[in-house]
Amino acid sequence: MWTDDQETQLAGLWTTTRKTQREIAEDLERPQSSARWKAHELGLAERGPAPARVRTYRPLLDLEHGMCRYPVNNGSPYLFCSEPRERLDLESDPYCAYHRRISRVGRR
Ligand SMILES: [Zn+2]
Repeated sequence: MWTDDQETQLAGLWTTTRKTQREIAEDLERPQSSARWKAHELGLAERGPAPARVRTYRPLLDLEHGMCRYPVNNGSPYLFCSEPRERLDLESDPYCAYHRRISRVGRR
């Protein structure tokens, strides 16, 4: 069984790192086939070649209004995505288009 935390972690690794499927599966201590299946279930895109652009992450204190507040790691210290938010008017949804989408996956 996958816990919500593991799903979130998978989505985070899948979308914000350049790790391969195998490395992600190892991080999560899951068989690669299971991670791949779960990613498919979560609607995450097939991983093609690594993205050319490297994202920059920021600690909370450096986040400015309008920046995505999706945490991209597990703390010490927390770093956040900091991409422009998709919806500036929704304080309850402080994510960029990408993280807005993955943060809604699995919400029941
Ligand atoms: Zn984001």
